[in-house]
Amino acid sequence: MEFDRSGVDALMDITKRPELVFVRGQGSWLEDHTGKRYLDFMQGWAVNSLGHCPPQVVKALSQQAEQLLNPSPAFYNAPSMALATRLTAASVFDRIFFANSGAEANEGAIKLARKWGQLHRGGAYKIITFEHSFHGRTLATMSASGKPGWDTIFAPQVDGFPKARLNDLASVRALVDEQTVAIMLEPVQGEAGVVPATTEFMQGLRKLADEQGLLLIVDEVQTGFGRTGKLFAYEHSGITPDIMTLGKGIGGGVPLAALCAREAVSVFAHGDQGGTYNGNPLMTAAGVAVFDALTAPGFMASVNARATQLSQGLQALSDKWGMKGERGMGLLRALMLDRDDGGAIVEAARDWAPEGLLLNAPRPNLLRFMPALNVSADEIDAMLARLDEVIDKIRAGAVLTAP
Ligand SMILES: *Cc1c(COP(=O)(O)O)cnc(C)c1O
Repeated sequence: MEFDRSGVDALMDITKRPELVFVRGQGSWLEDHTGKRYLDFMQGWAVNSLGHCPPQVVKALSQQAEQLLNPSPAFYNAPSMALATRLTAASVFDRIFFANSGAEANEGAIKLARKWGQLHRGGAYKIITFEHSFHGRTLATMSASGKPGWDTIFAPQVDGFPKARLNDLASVRALVDEQTVAIMLEPVQGEAGVVPATTEFMQGLRKLADEQGLLLIVDEVQTGFGRTGKLFAYEHSGITPDIMTLGKGIGGGVPLAALCAREAVSVFAHGDQGGTYNGNPLMTAAGVAVFDALTAPGFMASVNARATQLSQGLQALSDKWGMKGERGMGLLRALMLDRDDGGAIVEAARDWAPEGLLLNAPRPNLLRFMPALNVSADEIDAMLARLDEVIDKIRAGAVLTAP
């Protein structure tokens, strides 16, 4: 297959992309238009929890597609109730609203918290969020995010998202006032470079929220659905949040997200929330297939075994190359580089011949790893060996061009 430039010019130019088209995928491997294969440790930004085209999800989608695509959100459908039942049974939450993206689930969380504030906290509406956080790309979720520059890019912002510092409880307490209704955070800040909130901080936030009568919202769009070695990341700290959002991995590659809330917080009145595609049977059937795979006996144990292997392998690379260590939870990990060549490593790994390697550098001095949760031990070893070769090549070049 030829690379088609006219197709490129028909798309809005919203990001720099390499001149290749992926045509098929299986498990941890992708294939481009020339037939070149790539070992994929991005997996659509932690979206493909079971790798590319997992048979369970393909089967669920094709069976559901033959049976019923969308009766309209005005009616019940079986897959959405099956998935909601599974989620409430496996978590501390009682009620689920399905959405189509993480940003939309977070919008729902913000609306739910504001509604709760109107009913129970005298109209309080402010939600304390965090510097460097990422909650999505709608106007409200961009305003909630702490990404540098996002406060002005589409000004004016949606009001009411004061920013605290992660793992600094005093910085949160200092922002609480009469108008505060909730605290919202990612248990591991993903886009910021895989920065985990400490257990002590999570527990401190819960205590602060209880003392002040605030809601605690966890954005588990990236950390949920097994990514951190437990089904949900909040479980690591033993706390009970009031609201949780899911996205990415929940659909195993298809657009599905969820807003989960405890009964006392599920205060939407009829008409407050909805959406044409929300909870449609095609996507929720995929979600059921993913959930059942993750909760099958032994699955999470193997995620944790692979996480240990990846963590140790990355630490060994860091030691060998004099880098700054590795961090993360489960199969959401980062290698901290000692210099700003993350972008160069990502490009060289992708362009490697005969097989490429797909990695992500959310920051210039850091590589992020988000393999399929069912990645094999051999695939992790292959990735580590390839990455070592790539670093060797990049850094040899760096020495040669040094003054
Ligand atoms: C990706 C992400 C989002 C946004 O999800 P979309 O599906 O891209 O809208 C929100 N929060 C976190 C923590 C994310 O990683």
